[in-house]
Amino acid sequence: MVSPTDLRTEDALRVLNRVFGYDAFRGFQHEVVDHVVAGGDALVLMPTGGGKSLCYQIPALVRAGVAVVVSPLIALMQDQVDALTAVGVRAGFLNSTQDLAERRRVEAAFLAGELDLLYLAPEGLAVRSTLQLLERGTIALFAIDEAHCVSQWGHDFRPDYLNLSMLHERWPGVPRIALTATATSATRAEIATRLRLTDARHFVASFDRPNIQYRIVPKREPRKQLLSLLRDEHPGDAGIVYCLSRASVDKTAEFLVQNGIPALPYHAGLDAATRAANQQRFLREDGLVMVATIAFGMGIDKPDVRFVAHLDLPKSVEGYYQETGRAGRDGLPSTAWLAYGLQDVVQQRKMIETSEGDLAHRRNLAAHLDAMLALCETVRCRRVQLLEYFGETATATAACGNCDTCLNPPESWDGTVAAQKLLSTVFRLDRERNQRFGAGHCVDILLGKQTDKITQYGHDSLTVFGIGTELREAEWRGVVRQLLAEGLLAVEGDYGTLALTEASAEVLGRRRTVTMRREPEKPASSRSAKP
Ligand code: ADP
Ligand code: ZN
Repeated sequence: MVSPTDLRTEDALRVLNRVFGYDAFRGFQHEVVDHVVAGGDALVLMPTGGGKSLCYQIPALVRAGVAVVVSPLIALMQDQVDALTAVGVRAGFLNSTQDLAERRRVEAAFLAGELDLLYLAPEGLAVRSTLQLLERGTIALFAIDEAHCVSQWGHDFRPDYLNLSMLHERWPGVPRIALTATATSATRAEIATRLRLTDARHFVASFDRPNIQYRIVPKREPRKQLLSLLRDEHPGDAGIVYCLSRASVDKTAEFLVQNGIPALPYHAGLDAATRAANQQRFLREDGLVMVATIAFGMGIDKPDVRFVAHLDLPKSVEGYYQETGRAGRDGLPSTAWLAYGLQDVVQQRKMIETSEGDLAHRRNLAAHLDAMLALCETVRCRRVQLLEYFGETATATAACGNCDTCLNPPESWDGTVAAQKLLSTVFRLDRERNQRFGAGHCVDILLGKQTDKITQYGHDSLTVFGIGTELREAEWRGVVRQLLAEGLLAVEGDYGTLALTEASAEVLGRRRTVTMRREPEKPASSRSAKP
């Protein structure tokens, strides 16, 4: 005799073959499907491209009723529905972009049981009439996609996601499956609490993306560095370039176009039609480079993105991982390249200091930034450090051989004396509180340069003047950057004035040594080793 579980398993596999045309489940897809088909709640963490959609699409077809999929990606709903319709799955969506007639048609199909999946924006579930509609139909399951949007610490936070905890109260018997590619255990715990997924089984995939080569390089002339990367290693390839500001997006896109690389801009300052058109072109045409703020990318399913380049430092490891994860969804070798410099640290620390929100919020932002800086300054394998951050200590023991620090190991050096010299300079300047002296001025003093500013303030008579000629200017900037990264130095005010921290005293008092990273002479190239 066939047990009910066998029957369901059979059904799930058959649906996978017949409807989606795949031979086998991937990773733990099968376990998730069985669990949800049997009525269990699930929290699924899988990297981008891991195959999250099937985890709810197959239960949607196996269980009776309509699966309601909550997704923040209104712009992509039409594509998702089209893709399902193309393989014969009955799907529809309700969102603010529709006219009334279209809406009525979808509602009627839902009530008549003629839909397998119904996509909704989270704000839709705050509308009474939508809830009343759902109550009149049979719901197979709720899928909450991009579930990290419930996390108030992430940059994708959507207040409407908080409201989704009510699904459990209104439909206690309907299984819920929350899915995300954001991997930290803190985010995972937050999702479980805020969505009241207390009894949900957690399915956590490895977040390793072995085909992505991680590289973090010192920022010199970022646009030129980017251009050589594209010309030397990615000619004709599609890719994404992330910049912090809209202005820098526009300038970078223009620069690439002037240099013969087809590039398009994307940021929230462009009108909706231009944004949609650029996104469509990026998805449909080959070899386009999208230059964008982080407003671009969530839910973008383009398998052959060969590189993701960051011209500015991401605010967190979560963001970095998610953005770089858009590369290489097809499993082929891809590059994650980040140019990082002193100015990034100064700028981000300043942004945190002047950000709105209470102390706890600023501390949280600072902790996220610190983890990102630690990844930039590490002399260890980037991948190991990245995976450790996501709690994968067991899988992440061996160096990967496919990141810049593995391919071209940086040296570390004892930077204690250099740190003391720099901190002493900051200490001396600190007495002139009302003045504004940034990193550049401190380095000029150490190098003994007779600049106008130094003459003007008489800084050539300081005892620290000219005591740092053993290092080059770039090396001193590296010292400042690493001290900032480690919290041994701080920036204050709008002009990036350097200031001492409590921890600085430990270095000045010789109670703490400082190990620094020396950049390798020759930057790593993906040519030297591909997986
Ligand atoms: P995610 O939402 O996790 O980023 P998707 O659900 O979009 O990933 O899946 C990524 C790609 O992998 C899609 O092209 C999908 O069709 C494919 N895929 C998913 N599961 C399987 C499978 N079991 N066998 C083959 N291809 C699969
Ligand atoms: Zn490595």
